[in-house]
Amino acid sequence: MSAFDIAIRLVYLAVATSFVLGLHLMNSPVTARRGNLLSGGAMAVAVAATAAMLVHEGGVRPWAWIALLAGAALGSGAGLMLARRVPMTAMPQLVSLFNAVGGGAAALIGVHDFGQHGASLPVVLDVLIGGVTFSGSLIASGKLHGLVPGRPVVLPGGRAVTALLAAAMAVASGLLLAGHGGVVALAALAVAALGFGVTMVTPIGGADMPVVISLLNAFTGTAVAMAGFALGNSVLITAGALVGASGAILTKLMAEAMNRPIGAIVAGGFGTGDSAGDQVPGQGSVRTLSADDAAIQLAYASKVVVIPGYGLAAAQAQHQLRELAELLESRGAEVSYAVHPVAGRMPGHMNVLLAEAGVPYEQLADMEDANAAMPQTDVALVVGANDVVNPAARRPGTAVSGMPIVDADKARSVIVIKRSMGHGYAGIDNELYTAPTTGMYFADAKKALAEITAAVKVLVA
Ligand code: NDP
Repeated sequence: MSAFDIAIRLVYLAVATSFVLGLHLMNSPVTARRGNLLSGGAMAVAVAATAAMLVHEGGVRPWAWIALLAGAALGSGAGLMLARRVPMTAMPQLVSLFNAVGGGAAALIGVHDFGQHGASLPVVLDVLIGGVTFSGSLIASGKLHGLVPGRPVVLPGGRAVTALLAAAMAVASGLLLAGHGGVVALAALAVAALGFGVTMVTPIGGADMPVVISLLNAFTGTAVAMAGFALGNSVLITAGALVGASGAILTKLMAEAMNRPIGAIVAGGFGTGDSAGDQVPGQGSVRTLSADDAAIQLAYASKVVVIPGYGLAAAQAQHQLRELAELLESRGAEVSYAVHPVAGRMPGHMNVLLAEAGVPYEQLADMEDANAAMPQTDVALVVGANDVVNPAARRPGTAVSGMPIVDADKARSVIVIKRSMGHGYAGIDNELYTAPTTGMYFADAKKALAEITAAVKVLVA
């Protein structure tokens, strides 16, 4: 082995170590930024080392270099622009789009390697998983962006088509691995995988979306690892394996948060048909609150639990929320935050927002602890949350059935801040809003919190 090869291997080792360290730093919001920087920097080093290797080995024609550099500049430029411009609330669709790009790139590497060396297990898995990830992630991104219906869509005969596509993938893979079929089998595998991604994700929707996003993330990592095997590139294998493993862990956590087996989620169509389950039993009238009403309740509460949801992110009201919480604390109230694992539109969404506003981590209660203390809670302050506090989850037949919720309705009193009686992501009514202990403050979360804070200040002045 030449000195150059040894140097490249050492760089790859350092890069792989940095990826692992970076992931470890992401365990806590305090160090997550550093982790992101370290992993991103390591990836840049890996790309530079790979380019140096190509130069060293020679054999890449000038036109190919031009295409390579132009592609890299275009891809990095587009990625940078999208990531800088995207609002926090649109992050999930961007992540899905990145998953699609990763899966698609891995599938193309598989196709290229097939042209060079013929079929192998990594090539077949690359095209299969990469194809499923590409089309599935595009559909998921479209659902989150509202370009295709976000609810589960079960087409007549849809499951039979999915089963047929799965069978086609199995046959085409078998033929390729047995050394038969050639380009036709590869094309059939790619088409079946792309079709399978569409028919797999279309019937999943509503509250199950966090699970499918994490699952596709795990698929992307696996496809990239397979591309690493096809190319014989160790750092690609490591990066892919890390993404695949963390995506798989996240999928498990999200499925647990929804209290649904992963298989049942992938089978899809949950909560589509049975509209009887969506009927709100004993629907009462809505009690609206003014800023002064809410201020009186909060100013004299000794225990307040804040339940943040997607509306907090949409309104970017995290700083106003912190200001109100600090004001209440200065009056001796105990304030904590009950964060549901699927609140918002991406895993960890609320934690990121609250960390951005400087909410101390020790005030973030996990859901079980918050629920255990809910009967002793004076005010559950629900800010832009809907599905994650919907008691309909406790009945069968609704789009959120079986999902553990934050038991806001068990608090002594509830203040809900949202703009209207509009639905959340799962698209169903919420009987919490008409419960006798609930008062609704209809306004944008930022405005509402600022008004309530001002009213508390006047009250206690
Ligand atoms: P929901 O989507 O259930 O509800 C959010 C509520 O926020 C809406 O009812 C809306 O009501 C209100 N809202 C919107 N904008 C504002 C605003 N500017 N000010 C005040 N309120 C506002 O959110 P939850 O967090 O409760 O639940 C998350 C849902 O998203 C779950 O169903 C989850 O499965 C799903 N999901 C989660 C993902 C994740 O990874 N976390 C990914 C994809 C989906 P109104 O219009 O009346 O103001």
